Amino acid sequence: DAKQNGRGIVRVFDDSMDESIRFRRRIEGGLSQSIKKGELSLAYQPIVAREGFEVVGFEALLRWNTDEFGPVLPDMFIPIAEESNLIHELGDWVLGESLQVLKDWPGQYVSVNFSPRQFRRHNFVGHILEFVQKHGVEPSRVQIEITETAIFDDADRAAETLYRLRQMGFRIALDDFGTGYSSLYNIRKFALDCLKIDRSFIDGMGRERESAAIVHSIVHLGRALGLGVIAEGVESEAQVQALNLAGASHFQGFHFSLPIGPEQAREMAEIRYLVDPSQREDVCLEP
Ligand code: C2E
Ligand code: MG
Ligand code: MG
Ligand code: MG
Repeated sequence: DAKQNGRGIVRVFDDSMDESIRFRRRIEGGLSQSIKKGELSLAYQPIVAREGFEVVGFEALLRWNTDEFGPVLPDMFIPIAEESNLIHELGDWVLGESLQVLKDWPGQYVSVNFSPRQFRRHNFVGHILEFVQKHGVEPSRVQIEITETAIFDDADRAAETLYRLRQMGFRIALDDFGTGYSSLYNIRKFALDCLKIDRSFIDGMGRERESAAIVHSIVHLGRALGLGVIAEGVESEAQVQALNLAGASHFQGFHFSLPIGPEQAREMAEIRYLVDPSQREDVCLEP
């Protein structure tokens, strides 16, 4: 009896495995054609300095729209690309496209996400440098976003890579900070420009003391280390005020702007200052 149950469970498990493997294969197959079919695009979300809500940069966020599946979100397909070599192809497309679009902005940087596998690839530094040289872009206008996972597995090698990138003038942001398994002891080894506080903490700030406490300590840590601190996922005026009190240096989130297309981003880059809806009366746009 037990044996049969066992078998039954195994069979059901196998079926669902088959299905999820088939699904992954379809996603992989679709992704491998996505560039050729022109199904990829980038959305740009402004990163805003607390002073005057100046738009200092834009994060490039990958979008995939397919006939077969409709729009697919990066949290769904990036992990699948990450488990195959596709991540390199997609990553190269993202970098090339964002460097092209960057040229239309007066001075802002573009902040590009790199997955752990991209960051650990052989000669990552040379690869990135080749791209900016080909496009004639200053490295200081490119921010490289990596997560704790990418750098804490092989901390010494990662520290060396970041050091070299920073020497060349690239900006480095540690993304989703607080959700990985970073050791605070290790963090001083890395050449960084800023920490991005994960939006789960910003989201919890108004409800739980714990999240508010975590936000305050991350801001403290960042400032003590001389880093910028970008709060991600800012959705309300109350959060802006709390983050101002905590001392965050930059904001990013739906409260300021959704991720937008390249045309809108160019207009926003030219205007340069975002008007906070709740403070429209007080803010003076520069001519
Ligand atoms: P991330 O790098 O942490 O990007 C921020 C995510 O938060 C984006 O989701 C953005 O749309 C979302 N977001 C921004 N403001 C708000 C807000 O106020 N509220 C809420 N609820 N969400 C907000 P998205 O575009 O779906 O991207 C998800 C993740 O996929 C990114 O997280 C990043 O890890 C990854 N990703 C996106 N584009 C790329 C890419 O080109 N390469 C790689 N390797 N990963 C990428
Ligand atoms: Mg990011
Ligand atoms: Mg993030
Ligand atoms: Mg994330």
